[in-house]
Amino acid sequence: MVNLERTRSGAAVARLSAPGRRIWTNRASEPLIAFVEAGRQRIALRWKFNSEATLIREREVALVYESASPHLRLTSHWRARQTFGPIEHQIRIENLGSHDIWLPMQDTLDFDLKIDPQDKMEHVFVEKGATTPSATGTHRDVINEGYRWTGTSSTYGDLDESKPREIIPWSLVKADDHEQSGWYVGIEFSGRTRIAIVREQDSLKVSAGLNPDPVPFRTRLVPGEAFETPTVFVGAFRGGVDEAGNILRRWVREVLGNSETWKDPRYPYVVNNSWGGGVDVNEEIATRMIRDSASLGVEMFHVDAGWFRGVGDWHPNPKKFPHGLTAIAENAHQHGLKFGLWVDWTQAGISTEPGALNARDPKVRDWMVTDLPADWEPESFKGQTIDIGMPEAKQWAEREVERIVTDYHLDMLEHDGYLVAHGCDRSNHPHAAPDPLNKCIYKSSGFYFVDSTNSTDVSYHATRAYYAIYSKLRREHPGLIFEGCNDGGRMVDFGSAAHVDYFSITDTYDPVSNRRAFYDTSYVLPAPMLESYVEKWPTPRIENFRYMLRSGMMGWLSIMMDTALWTAEQRETAKNEIQMYKSELRPLIRDADLYHISSRPDGVHWDAIEYFDPSRKRGAIYVFRGSTAQAITHRFVLKGLDPASRYRVTFQDHSSAAKVVRGADLMKSGLLLQLPLINSSEIVSLKEEAPGR
Ligand SMILES: [Zn+2]
Repeated sequence: MVNLERTRSGAAVARLSAPGRRIWTNRASEPLIAFVEAGRQRIALRWKFNSEATLIREREVALVYESASPHLRLTSHWRARQTFGPIEHQIRIENLGSHDIWLPMQDTLDFDLKIDPQDKMEHVFVEKGATTPSATGTHRDVINEGYRWTGTSSTYGDLDESKPREIIPWSLVKADDHEQSGWYVGIEFSGRTRIAIVREQDSLKVSAGLNPDPVPFRTRLVPGEAFETPTVFVGAFRGGVDEAGNILRRWVREVLGNSETWKDPRYPYVVNNSWGGGVDVNEEIATRMIRDSASLGVEMFHVDAGWFRGVGDWHPNPKKFPHGLTAIAENAHQHGLKFGLWVDWTQAGISTEPGALNARDPKVRDWMVTDLPADWEPESFKGQTIDIGMPEAKQWAEREVERIVTDYHLDMLEHDGYLVAHGCDRSNHPHAAPDPLNKCIYKSSGFYFVDSTNSTDVSYHATRAYYAIYSKLRREHPGLIFEGCNDGGRMVDFGSAAHVDYFSITDTYDPVSNRRAFYDTSYVLPAPMLESYVEKWPTPRIENFRYMLRSGMMGWLSIMMDTALWTAEQRETAKNEIQMYKSELRPLIRDADLYHISSRPDGVHWDAIEYFDPSRKRGAIYVFRGSTAQAITHRFVLKGLDPASRYRVTFQDHSSAAKVVRGADLMKSGLLLQLPLINSSEIVSLKEEAPGR
């Protein structure tokens, strides 16, 4: 529960608490900016509370403050879009005057929570799975006196290995009480953001919003325009981190998710992705893959990179696809499959074909984040990111994705590459100009980045343009599905969750990386949104093959292998696994509560994820045995069951005999698993029996 209270200076969230639990009281008033700049002048602001314009309803509060000179209106907006889960907060500043104004950093949320210096508490946060999930991934830090922590998120993941890894912009603080209660905060924005936590004596300070680093942040506000801070959500919980997640994931589904997508019980779909054959995809390969996908029970055929004429030239390569892409889409549809396509639609190349985005074209040269050298060339499927925060570039991109979706009969559009500019050197774009004395331009993976004090403002404008483009596409194509890839696991945040239907959660696709990325990300986001690409991996035995598949079957499954190379036994196994996924596992992935019942996967020891849906009285446990030669048995203590009920436990691969066990036993002494082989797995089904049996 989050209680909002007016203080004398305005308003703030006064108290955070789960029902009947410890109350966290905030002592800080709203963090309203103290000055703006006009021309070269810094002008101090005097905010006056406007009670007439203020809106107070049961689940929504909009507090309005005004500044007479310069004429500005600031709205502090709080709302509860559901009867459960967190409440959201945003600050909006409108320029009602007739001159350009420069705003300094306006944080979304700035709490000063009163604590007892003796309090013990824990801080939980999770990394993005960008590139490869690290050895830690899920962090559980003790918050001692003097604790100072900042976690950052952007659309770039972890390009800079000298810095701490990026987080999914979310943090949870849990008290050391037997109720395991606390609060969490998250950010609904994909641009450069940060969450900071500082403990000092009787104070726990929490800030969330745009990333003010590098200082000074500034953003221009032209007359009539409004600046909106990233929306931040904040909620309270009890019962531990998984219970907090069970509420948050449901809230994300109901509030941020796309109801059109969730309506289809086949979501998350089973996908076959052409990258298993690399960039060589062509009409013949696609036609064979479609036939094969349909016979395996797959539901979507996804053409990955390699189909186009060139980077920025998003038309099918006529040598590879002599009959075009529409013919492939229609072929997929005739086989009962959806058709998805990879496009890196913010990248420019050097194609001179009509309709191509050519970085050397004087008309678009200024859309690049910096002047490219005359001899610059794109890589085979990576070009130079344009700044879609620039209105002309945004309009081009908007028309281009609309054309691609319509012309190629898409059911799914995947964006990849870095679609939000990483800094920008231009002084004629809507964002702030770079600092000429303090900027760094560098090349990585064939394209250019700019680091300067305007980086956060560049990402602010480009991210909003991206959201606007996708919101429009969604309105015009209600059934269209969006995959957010962004070089695998880099753009996993709650702003993306409101604009795409699923994420690629890592860029490394072996079983352990897939399980690690799922383990981390599933603390905060609904499992159907979490895509694992399953890549070819050594599977000398069929048990290893099942282990490989199941490691990517806990959320959204995309197979990225040349299935034509599978043996007859592997084909049969894959078919059965896909069938079981669709009938038994997918309903749980969509609706069930999720529990992390082991430590994070390391590929050596045992690990497991439990799903249990109290309304269906059913559950499933994904169990994995790593490479450990010693332990052929392992006991998992289950969660979320009724101690008084009895559960029928069955083992998909018959690794143990079916049995009936009391909930209390499963949650105290646990469930014993026995797997004789290394790198093998089991799917355990749970069915709660009717009382009295
Ligand atoms: Zn720019």
